[in-house]
Amino acid sequence: METMEFESILLPGVDAKRPIVIAGPCSAETEEQVMTTAKQLADRGIKIFRAGIWKPRTRPGAFEGGGSEGLKWLQRVQKETGMYTATEVATAKHVSEAIKYGVDMLWIGARTSANPFAVQEIADALIGCNKPILIKNPINPDLDLWIGAIERLYQAGIRKLGVIHRGFSSSDKKIYRNIPQWHIPIELRRRYPTLPMFCDPSHIGGKRELIASISQQSMDMNFDGLIIESHCDPDSAWSDKDQQVTPDILDYIINLLVIRDEQQTTENLSELRKQIDDIDDQLVETIAKRMRISREIGTYKKEHNMQVLQATRYSEILEGRINQAVKFGIEGDCMQKILEAIHEESVRQQIEIINAK
Ligand code: PEP
Ligand code: MN
Repeated sequence: METMEFESILLPGVDAKRPIVIAGPCSAETEEQVMTTAKQLADRGIKIFRAGIWKPRTRPGAFEGGGSEGLKWLQRVQKETGMYTATEVATAKHVSEAIKYGVDMLWIGARTSANPFAVQEIADALIGCNKPILIKNPINPDLDLWIGAIERLYQAGIRKLGVIHRGFSSSDKKIYRNIPQWHIPIELRRRYPTLPMFCDPSHIGGKRELIASISQQSMDMNFDGLIIESHCDPDSAWSDKDQQVTPDILDYIINLLVIRDEQQTTENLSELRKQIDDIDDQLVETIAKRMRISREIGTYKKEHNMQVLQATRYSEILEGRINQAVKFGIEGDCMQKILEAIHEESVRQQIEIINAK
């Protein structure tokens, strides 16, 4: 494929300042829920309102969105709050309905972008459409499949394109609902530096407590925007209730984000490097202290004829600390490696004590 050149996805009046925020409920449930949430978001300066009108559900029988009726509610949102609206499209019919009702921005969901037939159908239905279109990563961690979806839309003449990183499906749901695998969006950015990138911390984390740290990580990796699920009453949401926040909390999370420039001066850097040196010194001292205590435990175990390795104690240490680390925005795998290395050395030192004459 020839190199792709993209046009800005910014709608008039939407600031390019990072992060560009899209917020709103997972699904449009009722007219009242849509209007209440939208007004609260508009009052907090949100410019683009998201709501799922057609919901892809894992099991049949779960709430599947307000359907075309909900499109009228989105028109009310535009009229009464001045916000732009965005929704997910998964079929040609969704595209024509969304266009007919004047939805401002469309996105392709993760299940759909994993299916080239479905993406092609949407691309064909979008020919001649000048709205910004965002493409979520496919649920499986396949960068080529994601790029394939971008290319299908590009070939249909769509130039106002952007992507959404929403994490990847995995059987390991201990921490994330969808594991971030940050190297995949980072590689996408390396290949297409001008393609706007959004992060969806709601679907990555699956829990509201993780939204702030995942958002911060994405800003540190220079993402352009965030799409966050926000509901006037998250606990009673009809879908994805654990990963939605009230407009108030959303506002709080966004205001706490630290947005750094890409360029730091060398002067700033040397100050920061000094801080890193200090922290590394403290780290070594702390680890050494931990080893001393561990040797004392070794002496106790020797005197009481106990085994060195106590598996339940170790899993407690591991699990508790990994969860804590994730809350601070540290990748769980990384924390696990660090703890395992420390634990291994600790066991080695205790064995030394036990075997000492
Ligand atoms: C959504 O945005 O509500 C949604 C269904 O997301 P995804 O396609 O990422 O699962
Ligand atoms: Mn959702």
